[in-house]
Amino acid sequence: MSMVKVQDTGFKGRGLFAVVPIKAGTVLFEESPLVSCQFSWNSSYGYLACEYCLRPLETAESNVRRLTNDYTINLPYPECCTVQEQLSSHTKCTDCMEMYCGAECLQNALQLYHRVLCLGANRSDTNHPINALVEFWKNIHFPPETSSIMLVIKIIAMFKQHENTSKLRTQFEDFVSQTVNQDLMIFHKMLGENFSQQIEQLYDLICNAFDPSSDKRLHWLSLSGFRSLLALIGTNGQGIGTSSFADWVRNVTDIEMNEMQREALDVTIDNLYNKLDDVVGSFLNNEGSALYARQSKVNHSCAPNTECRFPHSNNVLALTTIRDIDAGQEICISYLDECALERSRHSRQKMLSENYLFQCKCEKCESQVADPDETSEEEGSSEEEQQMDDDSD
Ligand SMILES: [Zn+2]
Ligand SMILES: [Zn+2]
Ligand SMILES: [Zn+2]
Repeated sequence: MSMVKVQDTGFKGRGLFAVVPIKAGTVLFEESPLVSCQFSWNSSYGYLACEYCLRPLETAESNVRRLTNDYTINLPYPECCTVQEQLSSHTKCTDCMEMYCGAECLQNALQLYHRVLCLGANRSDTNHPINALVEFWKNIHFPPETSSIMLVIKIIAMFKQHENTSKLRTQFEDFVSQTVNQDLMIFHKMLGENFSQQIEQLYDLICNAFDPSSDKRLHWLSLSGFRSLLALIGTNGQGIGTSSFADWVRNVTDIEMNEMQREALDVTIDNLYNKLDDVVGSFLNNEGSALYARQSKVNHSCAPNTECRFPHSNNVLALTTIRDIDAGQEICISYLDECALERSRHSRQKMLSENYLFQCKCEKCESQVADPDETSEEEGSSEEEQQMDDDSD
């Protein structure tokens, strides 16, 4: 029996609720996404991940060497690395050389979208309409990336590749029904200040690449259909991060060793993280975005009781409780990252209404309802916090 069920919450639509008392640390469910992709800049900077599932494709040692640009680094305990193969042994699409973690992911990609998206020998041709679309997107969305046109491209390809689109339609309509009244998306933060013009340019590029007017499977892909699709990925897209180095760190932490070995290892890991911080800052992971059918029904709270984890180092999400939950309580995740959650009620509400188009009425926000309407930087917070505020503005 499931520990949770979807039910109506009243003012914020559907939500997920605990049916029984649940202990902290419980995995409520695991699910694969309907569609996922690596961010475009992340990929073009050489972060290597399976095109289908985002599993890291380089060993922890190669990963840390590449990121720090120090090829003298040798990682101890290589058996703790989850990626053992050399790059040359990875499964590739024989036409375009796109890399996958195995035959199953290549098969899944081919079956779902890659027959439409395989560019074959044109893979590096910047004039190819699909590449032109991705380049245009990259030039209006610099890192840190929060969303990707690749999700849109893959969804379109899924429709184009299937004779019978009714199953697909049902899957995506479930999302679309949540966003249909949100045509205010034109103001969406993800889309930036000048996005109303860019959205039309993007749509032209979509038409060049997929010619929706001559394909009955894409009859929904009008300019407004395209806007809804952007709204859908903007408000429902869940970030994914995978890293073979982080996996290695987790695995070496679990193995048995004596105290001296442990201390030496801790120093090694600290030094590596400092080095990484100097060179790449927070850009440690293969990063991407995905749409999840079940997880998308989980509402936001500024005091969440669950979080999304990726325990298999790929796009499989595990919704995990972070505190004990009573039967009947709503299951909530945070749509904001940890730093943002520490900010004032006013700042949080601003971010949530700009990025996710709702007014937060969670218990934390309600308990702070009397707080002055100040953004965090006006509160005389520490320098570091001010920096974050500046970054996200
Ligand atoms: Zn894979
Ligand atoms: Zn291919
Ligand atoms: Zn809140």
